Amino acid sequence: MADDTSSSAFLTDLVSSGHLLPLGADGVYGHGSAFEAIVEGVQQAITERGADQRATSVRLPPVYPAADFARTGYPVSFPHLGGAVFTFRGSEQWCRSSSADAADEAEQDGWTASLGPSDLVLVPAACQPVYALQRGALPAGGRVLDVLAQCFRREPSSDPFRMQTFRQREYVYLGDAAGARTHLDTWRARGVELLREIGLAASPSAASDPFFGRAGRLLAANQRDAGAKTELVVPVPATGTEGKPTSWAVASCNHHGDHFGVSFGISSGGAPAHTACVGFGLERLTLALFGTHGMDPVRWPVSVRKALFL
Ligand code: ZN
Repeated sequence: MADDTSSSAFLTDLVSSGHLLPLGADGVYGHGSAFEAIVEGVQQAITERGADQRATSVRLPPVYPAADFARTGYPVSFPHLGGAVFTFRGSEQWCRSSSADAADEAEQDGWTASLGPSDLVLVPAACQPVYALQRGALPAGGRVLDVLAQCFRREPSSDPFRMQTFRQREYVYLGDAAGARTHLDTWRARGVELLREIGLAASPSAASDPFFGRAGRLLAANQRDAGAKTELVVPVPATGTEGKPTSWAVASCNHHGDHFGVSFGISSGGAPAHTACVGFGLERLTLALFGTHGMDPVRWPVSVRKALFL
């Protein structure tokens, strides 16, 4: 965990350099042009690493159907992180009687009170909406998807590394158990190599998801014991205490077993498909680069700039 002083100094630097544009809610930012150029470079570096995967490209909107969200099991495992879209339920009469002045506070309260849940939720992790697209039998050898999505998790914090809204780029495998294991082994090694090439001292670390409640702690322990989740963590010199950098996870490798295969009726060789995903947090990775190489990308090491196509 970063201490408040170092993380707030890091945030101040990011904001004064124009990289993060604070929108007035914790963990919700716009990005400046240099920040986006780095995100673009990171994406290109990932695309290069994945060129041999013959992956099907899937670019997603930030919302998807609540029914599929429920089928993934996410609302039971992580009720504290999810978010849903609420929309206007008022009558036309309400619109006619309301003031045209949108800045009027009472009118805004009235609008808020007229909202109700829609059939849409916010995407909590890039791979979550893709399983519903894969129902039925997979081809022999399985399938790899290259997925990009804007994600949301309800974790408000003033620490820039804990954003509520961020992008994830994932390579998702669907097929048999051996293929899922190979996918994770391959991408764990590739991820570490890629991160080291851009000057981040990455190492794999066994991890567990932040499951909710007492039963959740058991799930987390099971996940750790089964080696189902590994994070790629990097020490970030701009954060930490007493000269000791805090390490942040910038990518995660997840083995889901046949959970999504069973839930969504996806099969491989006549049995429920096994799935695995490797996800890169694009904002976190970019923050780790600023926190390691400094606020001005022009001064970054030549090898890093080259690897990021800058
Ligand atoms: Zn995933």
